[in-house]
Amino acid sequence: MTSITHHIPEELLIAYASGNLAPAFALAVATHVSMCDECRARLGAHEELGGALLEDQAAQAVSGDLKTRLFDALDAPVVSEKTYARSGIFPAPVMEALGGLPPKWTSLGLGVRQMILSHDRSGSARLLYIPGGMGVPDHGHNGLELTLVLQGAFRDETGRYGVGDLEVATGDLEHEPVAEEGPACICLAATDAALRFRSFLPRLLQPIFRI
Ligand code: ZN
Ligand code: ZN
Repeated sequence: MTSITHHIPEELLIAYASGNLAPAFALAVATHVSMCDECRARLGAHEELGGALLEDQAAQAVSGDLKTRLFDALDAPVVSEKTYARSGIFPAPVMEALGGLPPKWTSLGLGVRQMILSHDRSGSARLLYIPGGMGVPDHGHNGLELTLVLQGAFRDETGRYGVGDLEVATGDLEHEPVAEEGPACICLAATDAALRFRSFLPRLLQPIFRI
């Protein structure tokens, strides 16, 4: 897909390559990488570099026997890893998070729907379904929010995001994303802290919908 204009920032890609991202963010990064040749190539370069560093360190600090066992362990096949294929608009990492099933949407009102894919103390990942022309209430962020478009497009104060584009919103951004007219905008959204809504009603609903 060559139409992607919003990619994974370098520091996020490095954190992902070194396994230091919370699962919700790792899902968003893995999904973008599966849709984007450019970021897949960048990730490959980071992984090669990381692997070389690991081998260097292992050669210096680890005895021969332990080194052999370490690399045997690295080469060992991962047990019972089920593989998922892309289905419709949902890339393989999202299908994995869905357990291979179509999403089960929960209505948030006004046609907006969500499905929570994962939720724990490190953050949450969800699918959002926003009808064309509809907006997500104006909100700020207590932490980091990654939004990856899977269908349709949305716009906010920072630009336009189409299929494959990843928006990175941090604590200093207040935004009001609006889905473009046309097919519903379906996004994968990952957050590590509750959103800060400016108006009363979403604040009221927040504990119920865990947004
Ligand atoms: Zn990219
Ligand atoms: Zn946001």
